[in-house]
Amino acid sequence: MRVLTLVGNRPQFVKAAAVSRVLRERHQEVLVHSGQHYDDELSAVFFRELGVPSPDRELEVGSAPDGEQIGRIMHAFEAVAAHERCDIALVYGDTNTTVAGALSCARLGIPLAHIEAGMRSFDHAMPEERNRVMTDHLSDVLLCSTEVAVANLEREGISDGVELVGDVMADVALAMAPVASQRSDAPERLGVEPRGYLLVTAHRAGNVDDPEALRMLVGVLVALPLPAVFPVHPRTRERLADAGMLSELGRRESLILTEPLGYLDFLALLQGAAAVLTDSGGVQKEAYLAGVPCLTLRDTTEWTETVDLGWNRLVGLDRDLVLEALGAIDPPAARPELYGGGRAAHAVVAALERWVGRRVPIGAGP
Ligand code: UDP
Repeated sequence: MRVLTLVGNRPQFVKAAAVSRVLRERHQEVLVHSGQHYDDELSAVFFRELGVPSPDRELEVGSAPDGEQIGRIMHAFEAVAAHERCDIALVYGDTNTTVAGALSCARLGIPLAHIEAGMRSFDHAMPEERNRVMTDHLSDVLLCSTEVAVANLEREGISDGVELVGDVMADVALAMAPVASQRSDAPERLGVEPRGYLLVTAHRAGNVDDPEALRMLVGVLVALPLPAVFPVHPRTRERLADAGMLSELGRRESLILTEPLGYLDFLALLQGAAAVLTDSGGVQKEAYLAGVPCLTLRDTTEWTETVDLGWNRLVGLDRDLVLEALGAIDPPAARPELYGGGRAAHAVVAALERWVGRRVPIGAGP
């Protein structure tokens, strides 16, 4: 089997770390990097630390407004896809890279598999939600992380090609957890004590592009009752700097602003945190897997099972709600296995093998 994989940003490199390794044990992969994330902190460090194979092709599209970026990725990806004769293409998650790959495959008639299919926050104002819906409706193989995702697709009339495989990000988080504790000195470097600090990430457009939301986010950050480590995403850094709020935040002793961290440092900090505050999808899952309570800085989430089990609470950007939640942060007793227990990549490859194996080549047959 020959698989054409398109990745382009931070969480996709983490997911590819799980799948590419297992896929390449028996099959060929052509790995294409769109260049949506292109710097060391958001891209190269993940290839180094997680052993993601070097991309075979780099499209180098760089930053641009959404429509333009999607167009640039399609233009460059279609040239590669038409040339590389693959059995199936593979995209991950919900980004501009994901939807660009899906649209290109639909145009070129290349079968498409989507990892993290069926995730829904039901908030259509989020670009990620629109990307998920479009990609799922263009996919032939829909690889779901959770039963909730399978049910979401069923409600949208999609059942053909749907497979519950578990979550490939969980494969990486579970495998790297002991490595991170051994190898990373980030907690000591930043001077934080186990369970004596919070870990914060925020970069969703809805939280940082709107000036009022950004002001509320800053209101949350300055009110936190414990020291907080905040690796600042470049988008957030730019918005804070434009609004003249970055240097003020930087002066606060209890707020430790850093550049975006490598995976091992981030995981080590996550494991030792008293709680995580985040608007990231991946970090909500990783907090659950690490047994660390999570406050999600959004009003909706696609990882609803973490909320149902009491490990995750949706607090939006409401400072009072954040403080109340942090005042009653006792973790629940039960933390059942939700995401495939570290075997999702094997299930993904098996599902692709079955689908490609079943496909009757055009012109074959009676
Ligand atoms: N992450 C990281 N360093 C950081 C922040 C996040 O390595 O400073 C990792 C995190 O562990 C997770 C992934 O990046 O695996 C999540 O990426 P992001 O929040 O950009 O994407 P989302 O999951 O929201 O799509």
